[in-house]
Amino acid sequence: MISPTRSTERSTEESETEPPVPFFTQAGTFTECWPDISRHLNGLFDRGKFSHGKQVALLEKALAEYTGARHVVAVNSGTDALVLLLRACGIEPGDEVVVPAFSFVASASSVALARGKPVFADIDPETYALDPASAEAAVTPRTRAIMPVHLFWQLADMDALGALAGRHGLKVVEDSAEAIGMRWNGVHAGRLGHGGVLSFFPTKTLGALGDAGAVLTDDPEIAERVAILRHHGRMGRTVDHIAGISNLSGASGTNSKMDDIQASVLLGKLPRLDAAIACRAELAAAYTERLRDVPGVLRLPTVARRGPGTEPVFYVYVIEVERRDQLVDHLTRAGVGTEVYYPTPLHLQPCFAGLGHRRGDFPHAEAACERTVALPFHPDLALTEVERVCDTVRRFYTGAAA
Ligand SMILES: *Cc1c(COP(=O)(O)O)cnc(C)c1O
Repeated sequence: MISPTRSTERSTEESETEPPVPFFTQAGTFTECWPDISRHLNGLFDRGKFSHGKQVALLEKALAEYTGARHVVAVNSGTDALVLLLRACGIEPGDEVVVPAFSFVASASSVALARGKPVFADIDPETYALDPASAEAAVTPRTRAIMPVHLFWQLADMDALGALAGRHGLKVVEDSAEAIGMRWNGVHAGRLGHGGVLSFFPTKTLGALGDAGAVLTDDPEIAERVAILRHHGRMGRTVDHIAGISNLSGASGTNSKMDDIQASVLLGKLPRLDAAIACRAELAAAYTERLRDVPGVLRLPTVARRGPGTEPVFYVYVIEVERRDQLVDHLTRAGVGTEVYYPTPLHLQPCFAGLGHRRGDFPHAEAACERTVALPFHPDLALTEVERVCDTVRRFYTGAAA
């Protein structure tokens, strides 16, 4: 433990002797899953089909079982999953899609890549997800869809957003890239509207060893369109163009096949996903317990009161703090890794400057960008590491340890 009398200089020296706490690692999980992963990899090498092969088909089936989705279409990233899902939902050039101003850039860039127009709305400061009232205010006669993004540990308010979509006849495309395991009244994320996505980027709750993603939908037509688009518009062995499918005629497909090495890794990890989620819940509770009374910490993760079957799944542990950037510097010097998701709201990103927004347009999104920081979080994290991170945060705000 750190003595309350130590100066900042002393604590810097001390960080040289204490091992760092990385923001993320999956070394331990990987070792544990390795026997299963290698079994799947051996099957792959025996067959020799490394892209869009049997491992990918097995993964699609396993994910359909895990999520309950009727159709799972594997692609090569969460971003591609969003783009292809939007196209499969019939987004056409100039169609507007309402997107929260606080999210990963792919939520909005996927709309632009599908040749639609992202239209931003503010977030609910408790859930960090699309605020239904702000989303409704953004609807125009050109709006075709809304994109709820489920960030960090809980779902957007899907009752209110579903009702809004119903009132205006809009498609609901869920950016559920972070939401594997999250359910609304027992229904898995991505199945609450027309379709959703999963990302298997390495840091995600179910992470591959590279890029991979998937589309989830209960709609067989949407699933078929995504499956065609991911493979050059291929509808058989020889027809390399799209014809006769509504909403897609005249369009071209792309190469977004998932590779079978990533599918093998994911197949090897999926059986331990629920155990990893339970471990994440314990770590989140441990952080909350130790940070509860730290001055300077403005907000700890709260879970909006929803019905049963709507439990949170901690993908990351994010807090709001005073003097965020100085805290990040302090933690970095002490060897503690952090991430800021997301430092700039989407409406102020240079790539969306053409939409003409100004600071002040979406105050909750802007405040979240200024105050939030994600602490080290992954199933291999030890409780002693959580303690060390919390002590380091406390020392920053009080100049003393607990
Ligand atoms: C990770 C993520 C994506 C994109 O997924 P990739 O697999 O990295 O392309 C999209 N939206 C959100 C909210 C994400 O967190």
